[in-house]
Parts: sequence; structure tokens; C-alpha cells
Amino acid sequence: MATIIDGKKISKIIKNEVKSDVDKLIQAGIKPHLTVIFVGDNPASRIYVNMKEKACKKAGIFSETIQYDKSVSESVLLEKINKLNENNNIHGILVQLPLPSHINEAAVLETISTDKDVDGFHPTNLGRLVAGSENTFIPATPYGIVELLKRYKVETEGKHTVILGRSNIVGKPVGLLLLRKKCTGNATVTYCHSRTKNLASVTKEADILIAAMGKPEFIKKNMVKKGVVIIDVGINRVEDPSKKRGYRLVGDVDFDQVSKVASMITPVPGGVGPMTIAMLLKNTVYSAQKYSLKDGKQHG
Ligand code: NDP
Repeated sequence: MATIIDGKKISKIIKNEVKSDVDKLIQAGIKPHLTVIFVGDNPASRIYVNMKEKACKKAGIFSETIQYDKSVSESVLLEKINKLNENNNIHGILVQLPLPSHINEAAVLETISTDKDVDGFHPTNLGRLVAGSENTFIPATPYGIVELLKRYKVETEGKHTVILGRSNIVGKPVGLLLLRKKCTGNATVTYCHSRTKNLASVTKEADILIAAMGKPEFIKKNMVKKGVVIIDVGINRVEDPSKKRGYRLVGDVDFDQVSKVASMITPVPGGVGPMTIAMLLKNTVYSAQKYSLKDGKQHG
């Protein structure tokens, strides 16, 4: 049976570390501040926004959510982001995705100041990641994945890491992190996606398999090699009449099967999920720390 990589436990440790960094900043006169822009009423997004607010509060980070109706125009959003960019009290700006289809998501993300882009989705920050620069915000989910590997002492150097998924928020950046010439890097990285042929022949070669597809329990025991380390990013709802809410959450990996052959595995829920918010808090504090070095005092 595989060792369980406990994201819930590690995320609590990170949140405590963040809290002590926040305390130091507050002593220095700086209150870390995250502003979230939330457009529309998507219930799943609402849950995430509430979770972010709660976690910020617990860590001592000031957080506010600016809510817009789903009919809001792109220009109103861009104008608001520009104002937030200029506000020296705000250290992190995050636009909850997805946005309604009449709004150009790329234009919105590109308007956020690169110094406040705590989600790390601005092309400049993604470009810095490509260039191997430390001076960037690492997107929270990939950041959480490498942190789990680090804290569970998973060797990545020279290991064949297969990533299932090439999205800008998970697949691509996690591969870039694993390629860095440092701890939790130096891996040999293979990306797979929906056009990959003979997927199982690739996944079977993986020492570390990172699944970020959004396909419930897609990875079966016969698709992996014995001793593989599994990072399951997928969060999928599957119908389950035995549950009060009518569904349960599963990952992209068939946990019951694969945990019997893997050496380590993240559960869903309780694996990568809780790490995402912890790393967002870390990014917000990092932004406030950078700000304090630049200026050293709170404005307003
Ligand atoms: P996207 O839908 O943006 O990307 C999915 C990727 O999987 C695409 O690159 C797609 O390929 C690939 N894919 C789909 N089907 C297959 C297949 N049969 N074989 C190989 N590759 C396939 O999703 P995200 O990256 O945003 O999210 C992925 C999963 O992670 C989702 O379940 C999401 O809910 C979860 N997630 C979890 C987070 C957390 O905090 N734990 C945070 C973010 C996401 P192609 O590019 O060719 O379409």
C-alpha cells in the first residue's frame, strides 16, 4: 500500500508559517491585503472565493471580495483593476476564473500589475517561470505540487515525470517547475494531452505521474509502473446516491487500484486541493514582503 501524501496536513503547516510571516509584517507596519474580483454567481467559484477569504482571515491577511454582476462590461473590470494596481495598500489582486464569455480573460489577466499577480497567470510572470527567474509568482496549484514533493522528500532529479494535461494553470507550469535547475527540479519531463497516442505506454514509463486532466478515475493500475509516485490534481464530481449531497469527489486516478502499486499517492480530496489555497496565501505574503523591502511603510 502506498504512502499517502497528506496535503491537508502540509497545508496546515504552511498556513502556520504564513501566519508567522504575517505577524512579522504587521509588526513592521504592513498588513498584507488580498483583493479578489468575482464576476457572476457560479456556485463552485463562490465556494472557492469563500474558502480563500476564510483562509486569509485565519492567517491575519486582510481580504476583500469585489463582486460584479455577470453582465459587467470588460471596460468596467479593466478600469477597476487599474485602480487596484495603483492602490499601495493592496498587495495581491486575483480575478476568480472562469469569466463570462463576453469578457476577454487574457485582457483581464494582463491588466493585473505583475507585482500583484498572486495567481501568477500574467504572461510576464509565466514568462519569468519559463526563463527560470526567481522573481515571479508561481501559480498556486503547481507551487503546491512541488511543495508536496519537497516536504515528502521525493527525489525529482533525473526522474521521468509524466504530466497529463497542458493547461496554463496546472500542466504547463508544473512541468516548468520540475525543469528548474534546483531542488524539486532537474526532472526529465514529458507532457501528455488529449492528442497523445498510446497514452498508457507513456504513463507506464513515469517515475512520477502528475494527472491534471479532469477525467474521473481515468488512470488505472495497468497504466502505471510499480513504485510510481502519483500526484492527482483532478477534482471530479461523480454521482453517488449514498451521499447526502448526491455526489462524491474523485481524482483523475483510480485511487483504490493505483494505491496498491504506487509508492506514494495524493488522495482526492485532501491531497493537492488544500495546498492551492495555502500557496495563494504564501504568494500574497511574498508580495507584501517585496513591497516592504521597496518602501518599508504602509500607505493610507
Ligand atoms: P483543463 O481542462 O484546462 O486541461 C485539461 C488537460 O487535460 C488538457 O490539456 C487536455 O488536453 C488534457 N486531457 C483531457 N483529456 C485527456 C485524455 N483523455 N488524455 C490525455 N490528456 C487529456 O483543466 P485544468 O488544468 O484547469 O484542471 C485539470 C483538473 O485539475 C480538473 O479536474 C480541475 O478541477 C483540477 N484542478 C484542481 C486544482 C486543485 O486545487 N487541486 C486547481 C486547478 C484544477 P488538451 O489540451 O488536448 O485538451
